[in-house]
Amino acid sequence: MSDPMAEEQVFNQPPPFADVNLIAADTPLREAAGLAAGELLPFGAEWGSQARLALGRHANENPPRLRTHDPQGRRLDLVEFHPAYHALMGHSHAAGLAHSTWAGGSHVARAARLFVIAQVEAGHVCPLTMTHAAPAALAAAPTLLAEWLPRINAGPYDSRFVPFWEKSSVTLGMGMTEKQGGTDVRANITRAEAIGGDDYEITGHKWFFSAPMSDAFLVLAQANGGLTCFLVPRFRPDGAVNALHLQRLKDKLGNRSNASSEVEFARAFAWRVGAEGRGVATIIEMVQLTRLDCAVSSAGLMRMALALAVHHARHRTVFSKRLIDQPAMTAVLADLALESEAATALVFRLAVSFDRAKDDPLEAARARLLTPAVKFSVCKAAPGFIYEAMEALGGNAYVEESPLPRLYREAPVNAIWEGSGNVMALDLLRVAGRDAAATRAVISALAQEAREVPGALEAARDIADSLTGEHLESRARSIAERLAALAAAAALAAHAPGALAHAFGTTRLMRPRALFGANPIAEPAWLLDRALTEP
Ligand SMILES: Cc1cc2nc3c(=O)[nH]c(=O)nc-3n(C[C@H](O)[C@H](O)[C@H](O)COP(=O)(O)OP(=O)(O)OC[C@H]3O[C@@H](n4cnc5c(N)ncnc54)[C@H](O)[C@@H]3O)c2cc1C
Repeated sequence: MSDPMAEEQVFNQPPPFADVNLIAADTPLREAAGLAAGELLPFGAEWGSQARLALGRHANENPPRLRTHDPQGRRLDLVEFHPAYHALMGHSHAAGLAHSTWAGGSHVARAARLFVIAQVEAGHVCPLTMTHAAPAALAAAPTLLAEWLPRINAGPYDSRFVPFWEKSSVTLGMGMTEKQGGTDVRANITRAEAIGGDDYEITGHKWFFSAPMSDAFLVLAQANGGLTCFLVPRFRPDGAVNALHLQRLKDKLGNRSNASSEVEFARAFAWRVGAEGRGVATIIEMVQLTRLDCAVSSAGLMRMALALAVHHARHRTVFSKRLIDQPAMTAVLADLALESEAATALVFRLAVSFDRAKDDPLEAARARLLTPAVKFSVCKAAPGFIYEAMEALGGNAYVEESPLPRLYREAPVNAIWEGSGNVMALDLLRVAGRDAAATRAVISALAQEAREVPGALEAARDIADSLTGEHLESRARSIAERLAALAAAAALAAHAPGALAHAFGTTRLMRPRALFGANPIAEPAWLLDRALTEP
């Protein structure tokens, strides 16, 4: 007689979600990113493997530790990471996440990889995204760009704490936020003193300073001519360790594999990037890229939560019927699938605009106008979405062995850093106010692309009217949300099945979106077949 406590007696629990090809299983991603048949399949298998998923878990269960001093009291200012973090960095670096668009790759191709790695471990996305974005700011100092871009583009990942000129490749971070002002960087009090030519010394602090083991940082500080951007290396050109004193690591809600420090600069050596007084204009070029990454990464988090929920519901039976076939659950999951596919389509269409911007003024205007709206809408949607997916799995998803708690804790940060929600909505108004003609052209292009989607033409009219009305700032969020929904409808109209775009229009454009599962989707079941392809 078999032992009733034996492991094989566990039944009506789904098989582990592991050794899944994260590209092959994801039709919405393949279509939104325009992947050719077979493209990125080895990458999808690698990142969905049991071994890679385990690296994500280990990197978060063993967060980085700060070593400020050695036993004799000498400053170290070192952060030690678990080997799993470095392994993830190595794999993502090798896949081009830190540099591919500067080496001829497209933003869309990089976004497809980013979307996948964020599903597995989002903490290590931070150093990759800052490194990838840094050359956009360095462009204001052509000599520095010429020196540093080859180092960024080089390989492989090199985690050693040695001078940058000895490394096989470098990573970069950025420091803007101070205690008295994050959004309002003009309130920065950190000082920069010129010491000859483009060399400066920085004295002051940064209140948030992520990835402090990076090889150099884009930092804002007040010079005589006003707020200015600088490149602060971890090692001075004479080979001495630069005076970046790491005070503490933040004890964060999520994003735990990534180190976010507080730092003090004690006459730290720096090179000026761009003219004195042009700090915001210089660093904003970098931030535009990191905002795209935040949105792609949040769409990736949503995707993993959806996949886990659909997988569970397919393999779990309640009251003699699979959970996925219980009408109330079908309605919830189909609504989540619709939301996830819309977010995916939206972020990839935005990445297309980044690729086309240099040759096409309308696409450049589209990237400028939609980046804040898309970052606002997708990053803000992710926490609520992941919570709902968590509930679909029941108690198992509330337990730390499940990836859901980590996804849930990770999600809010993308809405906070690189410009918080209100800041994004206000930025959209600023862009629209600066170039009304370009804004009208973008809105009318979106309306034209989405014309078959119910509610799209009305939404376009509402947005255009709202932008000319009064008390704009108090309506900033509603304008941003509606513009992102219109852009999502346009993106779905281009690639997704007509019925899906139609369902999006009837539930998201014609009426305000209700709770997941309360939005009337006429035929929900096929959305779930499409959402997750399992063997
Ligand atoms: C985990 C983590 C890592 C980080 N890493 C870095 C880093 O590496 N480098 C770095 O420079 N920063 C970093 N930050 C800081 C982050 O960018 C800031 O927290 C963010 O920009 C908001 O700034 P703040 O915290 O000073 O909040 P505040 O600027 O005080 O904003 C608070 C709230 O007010 C809202 N708000 C601001 N202005 C307006 C307005 N005019 N009207 C209406 N509402 C407004 C904002 O949207 C926000 O919701 C990190 C933050 C976190 C959480």
